[in-house]
Amino acid sequence: MGSTETLFTNAKLADGTLNDIAVHDGRITAIKPAGSGDGAANLVDITGSLLVPGFVEGHIHLDTSFYGDKWIPHKPCRNGFDVHERVAFQAENMAAAAPMDERARNQLDLCISHGTLQMRSHVMVDGSVGLKSLETILMVREEYSDIIDIQLVAFPQSGILKSPGTSELMDEAIAMGADLVGGLDPLSFDRDIKGHLDVVFGIAEKHRVDVDIHLHDAGTLGAMTIEEICVRTTALGMQGHVAVSHAYGLGDLAPEAAKKIAALIAKSGVSIMTNAPGNHNFPPVALLRAAGVNVFSGSDNIRDSWWPFGDGDMLRRAEIIAYRSGFYTDPDLSAAFETVTSGGAKALRLQGYGIAVGAKADFVALAAEHVPEAVVAIPKPRRVFKEGRLVAENGAVVR
Ligand SMILES: [Zn+2]
Repeated sequence: MGSTETLFTNAKLADGTLNDIAVHDGRITAIKPAGSGDGAANLVDITGSLLVPGFVEGHIHLDTSFYGDKWIPHKPCRNGFDVHERVAFQAENMAAAAPMDERARNQLDLCISHGTLQMRSHVMVDGSVGLKSLETILMVREEYSDIIDIQLVAFPQSGILKSPGTSELMDEAIAMGADLVGGLDPLSFDRDIKGHLDVVFGIAEKHRVDVDIHLHDAGTLGAMTIEEICVRTTALGMQGHVAVSHAYGLGDLAPEAAKKIAALIAKSGVSIMTNAPGNHNFPPVALLRAAGVNVFSGSDNIRDSWWPFGDGDMLRRAEIIAYRSGFYTDPDLSAAFETVTSGGAKALRLQGYGIAVGAKADFVALAAEHVPEAVVAIPKPRRVFKEGRLVAENGAVVR
């Protein structure tokens, strides 16, 4: 055994077995029954805690949260929910908030302390903020690159066709270092599904990057948009490279219609992200998974202009998904857990994810008997390891 090897002893895996896990240069090199390891320079005793892969925060907004800043009371829309009005409220709030880099760090520390080691954040790109938010978040990503992997989506919060110059800004955003092209309600926001998706998929094709589109549209409007996204994904050979975030419309469909579109989504290799928000129908997680659709999850907004909720804990997110989905059995609770772990890893196309030989030693030790219990109990004492190094414990990032 090499001198830089660390042996994580007495780690309980999801199958209930106790194991010693050898880590060398940030990778898992061996998994053996507990007690069989010897000679490692460093020993870390997991003391029988449950060891799970680092959580995947699949959808967050690092630029717009006020977490750690002063409390900003939520302002309701005048005549029911209106995306345009909320975007205007957001601009007012952001102008009065602490600097974006500080707020982004607060949010990252919160997420990492709970065990998130992989993240996809949307970052607003539009005529009003230009590429300034992206520049800030790129800088913060660099600062955190040794403790969390972050993908950034160029997110057209003000629409693409409705906000002149946005397509050029998005193109530039990818050139600057954003990893994915975003989108926003092509029909209800831009009133032009073809024009909107031409821009999104055009930039994606040009730069060979993935796509993750915000789609809040309800019922058939949402379903129609998803069908169109699936058709384009397949036509461009982008199966596995496209996600639809929220996809509320799927939750409005009758089971037969939902099954039909689920088959198309599965065939197109499009992933669906849900955070199971309280005041909306949301995608039928079990039905989608049964059809072979990859479902993943994220906090979405944490304490921002859209809502006051969110604690950056993906275990809690798994519980919310299970709770709202009526998941009670162990397999269903484990399915909810997968939306914040392997489902996220698949959507983000992460290499070397999971507790397996050859994988990155990114894991979280939890005080739980097994995964279903972790989902309902949301145990807070956690130790978080990034490539075998302790990066958080007792709810705080270790520096
Ligand atoms: Zn979002």
